[in-house]
Amino acid sequence: MSDLHHRVEESRAILERIARDFSPAVFASSLAAEDMVLTDLILKNRLPIAIFSLETGRLHAETLAMLDKVKEVYGYEIALYRPQAEAVQAYVEQNGLNAFYDSVEMRKECCRIRKVEPLGRALSGNKAWITGQRRSQSSTRAELAVQEDDAAHGMQKFNPLADWSEQDIWDYLRGNGVPYNALHDRGYPSIGCEPCTRAVQPGEDVRAGRWWWENPESKECGLHVVDGKLIRIKSVAA
Ligand code: SF4
Repeated sequence: MSDLHHRVEESRAILERIARDFSPAVFASSLAAEDMVLTDLILKNRLPIAIFSLETGRLHAETLAMLDKVKEVYGYEIALYRPQAEAVQAYVEQNGLNAFYDSVEMRKECCRIRKVEPLGRALSGNKAWITGQRRSQSSTRAELAVQEDDAAHGMQKFNPLADWSEQDIWDYLRGNGVPYNALHDRGYPSIGCEPCTRAVQPGEDVRAGRWWWENPESKECGLHVVDGKLIRIKSVAA
């Protein structure tokens, strides 16, 4: 069995276990490459795991186009969770549309409004959630476990692709004809909101294009809480 085939089988088994033992479970998809692997595994194996995305209002057109692509290829409509309009309006009126460039605090507040609060609504009522995070994505994810106790949300969190390499992801996507975000072919290994993501140079850390004006240790959006403490957020998604 090839390494990739072995990883696929392991990840599929994890997803099956989640569907069996942690129902209802949801998958938080950022519509990027890793998340398309999980989307393919969930939908092709008809696993009862709902898929949702956080529509922050600042996503690239290429990312939004993936919603239609998934519908076209799999006949599945990904649920969207949006920020509360009043909170966005208050932030913009008080600080300006792009105040996240001004300080880490302003950036985290924007992420809180546009991602963290909607994530809480999306996860509510579930026993587990799933992400496409991988250990080798960045220094903030080096110790990522396949299963974590997400005390902040009161549920289990699973990272079924934790030990996949970037090469594994692309071998799987290309080998199975899985659709992927067009931005990946333009130097974007990691994709988030449009104003906070840029292309990286060959050899750069895959997350170097996310919040590139901050130092690596602060580069998390608050979606992933470690040991139940928001202050120790060390991983990311979306
Ligand atoms: S990634 Fe940027 S635009 Fe998106 S929620 Fe965070 S700070 Fe706001």
